[in-house]
Amino acid sequence: MNAGPDSFDPRPARPLFPPASLGVLGSGQLGRMFIQAAQRMGYRAGVLSEAEDTPAAQVAHWTVIGRDDRLASLRAFGDQADAVTVEFENVSAPALRWLARHRPTRPGWQTVWVAQNRLREKTFLSRHGIPHAPWRPVRNPAELDEARRALGLPLILKTAASGYDGKGQVRVESADGLPRAWSDLGRAPCVAETWVDFAAEVSVIVARGADGLAACYPVGLNRHHRHILDSTVMPAPVGPAVSQEAHDLALGVAQALGTVGVLCVEFFLAADGRLLVNEIAPRPHNSGHLTIEAAVASQFEQQVRALCGLPLGDPGLAMPAAMVNLLGDVWVEAGGQPRWDAALRADPGVSLHLYGKRTPFRGRKMGHLTVLDPDPQLALLRAQAARRRAAGHNGA
Ligand code: AMP
Repeated sequence: MNAGPDSFDPRPARPLFPPASLGVLGSGQLGRMFIQAAQRMGYRAGVLSEAEDTPAAQVAHWTVIGRDDRLASLRAFGDQADAVTVEFENVSAPALRWLARHRPTRPGWQTVWVAQNRLREKTFLSRHGIPHAPWRPVRNPAELDEARRALGLPLILKTAASGYDGKGQVRVESADGLPRAWSDLGRAPCVAETWVDFAAEVSVIVARGADGLAACYPVGLNRHHRHILDSTVMPAPVGPAVSQEAHDLALGVAQALGTVGVLCVEFFLAADGRLLVNEIAPRPHNSGHLTIEAAVASQFEQQVRALCGLPLGDPGLAMPAAMVNLLGDVWVEAGGQPRWDAALRADPGVSLHLYGKRTPFRGRKMGHLTVLDPDPQLALLRAQAARRRAAGHNGA
């Protein structure tokens, strides 16, 4: 636990108790799991969604069909919500700012504004002395040249806006590849970043309450496949010094942003133990899904608590755990429907989460599996085996 100033949320903390109505902007699986946590605690929970049959709208008490950049939609949504949160960073920051005039809105628009654009995010990290890979802005050919000179090769070019799961990113190995890479990204504003030869990727999820108190989950070890998170193991097999440093940095980010809510900081871990911040997500994160079963209070419960001005819950783990994502690939490999019977029958300790998405395709996050085990590595092996069985690879 750690105290800090809350520069962006001047509203006095008047707790909201059940059955108050909580609204989430964004309608994917993170919104779905937030709503489920809120409902378990007796709140009413709803969503602003562009369609009816979305992961969050399927489970919500109420849904406003509309868009976050339309005032009429926001009005209808705001009328139903006593407090507002977000499930992804690409929401309209002005919409959040408008909503915040009328009701608690957590995280605040400033946090989202910084995290939704890599140029602003990197500038924020640099300004606050938070370690990260060397980078340069790329908004014109002169800056492209300057980036190559300053950073060397290989480097990675990332669009400033709308990038996630490896979309809008190109690794560049040669000087002549750089203009081509920028063209492939539509010559959009980008950041160029030194390629980091990391030993591992880890993340810390931190919840910060309206009172400035914060709670961190243990460090998670993340493995990506084709730039999409494949698995998380918590706690990560890192020593106490790395763990402390990761927690301090994540808390520093949350405090510097003045965030109230849940935030994930993703890191590159170098072989010598140095940590570099890669990305900030101002919301619960895929690497924290296992906290639903493994932690005393899940990341989604913390989001509810922070939003409502309740004291944060205990982020401690009842047991180590592993999570593997179920991408649409599992459906494709299984020839249509995954073999849930084979996946679940062999190991009753496997928890299945499906997000209610109708159309599976490769790379689409359809659900995840969580396994708790005193041995975190065994938890991962069991979760991976269940996923292989679901995909129809029966020898798993
Ligand atoms: P991001 O969308 O920035 O989180 O990037 C997605 C994934 O791409 C990361 O989790 C890394 O596996 C990889 N990646 C991104 N930036 C770098 C970098 N500078 N050096 C090496 N790998 C990177």
